[in-house]
Amino acid sequence: MATDLQAKLQELTALPNTEHPLLSVYVDYRPDGNGQRQAIQMLEQDFDIIADQVKGRGGNLKSFEADRQRIMDYVNRDAPKDANGLAIFACDAEGLWEALPLQVPIETRLVEDRYPHIFNLARILDDYETYAVVLADSQESRIFVISLNEAEKAGETEAGEEIRRFDAGGWGQMLFQRRTENVIKAHTKEIADKLNRIMRRHDVQHVIIAGNDSVKGLVMASLSQQIKDKLVDFINLDIQSNMQSIMEAIEPRMREVEQDQEADDLDTLEAQVNTKGGHGVVGVADTAMALTKGQVMTLIIHQGFNAIGGECPNCGTIRPGLRNNCPYDGAEMQQVNLREIFTARAVQQAATVQVVEASDYLDQHEGVGAILRYSDAPQAQEVNAGRHQNG
Ligand SMILES: [Zn+2]
Repeated sequence: MATDLQAKLQELTALPNTEHPLLSVYVDYRPDGNGQRQAIQMLEQDFDIIADQVKGRGGNLKSFEADRQRIMDYVNRDAPKDANGLAIFACDAEGLWEALPLQVPIETRLVEDRYPHIFNLARILDDYETYAVVLADSQESRIFVISLNEAEKAGETEAGEEIRRFDAGGWGQMLFQRRTENVIKAHTKEIADKLNRIMRRHDVQHVIIAGNDSVKGLVMASLSQQIKDKLVDFINLDIQSNMQSIMEAIEPRMREVEQDQEADDLDTLEAQVNTKGGHGVVGVADTAMALTKGQVMTLIIHQGFNAIGGECPNCGTIRPGLRNNCPYDGAEMQQVNLREIFTARAVQQAATVQVVEASDYLDQHEGVGAILRYSDAPQAQEVNAGRHQNG
């Protein structure tokens, strides 16, 4: 079920706006206690409301009805039953159909607009980064990759010979121990090599190693700098644990990593905003301007951010509030959901989207800000370029 969500996001945000109804559908696909999926009924009600809207404005009802049918068929019949969430993007008239089953729980939501609403997908990517989890003892190891809440076994290793206990004592004991240590050393090196390859292949962002204290020292000593840079923790865990116990043990650490990243990004933002000519903006208007210019490296957006603005179909300028015409070329501005447009533009300019759960600093600045790749002020660029000479 694994999906390259980042690539999908890029495809979706590259679509030109359409005059036909484009549907963005998020479905909580988890069955309730009676095995029913409540979301399906909610969807039917939402579809009725949107049908009236499309009809009311004389929109392309035929395209909408085709999508409605296809989406309900997918949700009722074709979607994998072990998915926790579904994300579907459809516009029959434009030939768009993208159905993404996910292991991540999603809140049910249906939107019709001229462009895909992808904030919730971007949020999933922010919340569920890719981890490698290594379960190791002296005899064997298993390596899992956890991506979008879904664990996949990516590799395993076994020591060159069976590690036994030998308690005869004396000279023989010493020789035996040395030999055993060498076998274990060779094995931990093999684990590290395999992990390196898996990290490259799966674009792993964080590593968690689990095992018992007897192997901790040797395993840690065998790790390359590249792995150490991404190491979150070594946790004590029986390596024969089942997947559920593994997930339960590492989930709190994964949440901590995400919270630390949020705090780091917010600290950086505040420091940059408070530096003259710094690489940071806050507030809706300045963030819209930075995104329009393609300056954004990290978009930092409160999970409850919600605002209406305008987008120029000609030059792409985004501005807060409802203005009739683009100040640069006079074209008629199109009304947009700023949360969605901000997120889409960030994805288009290869920026990271950091969705923040709570922050007083962000609350004081309309719930949005951005860390920039470069700043406009010529003075700031000089300072940056001459940083080493001038301190
Ligand atoms: Zn314009």
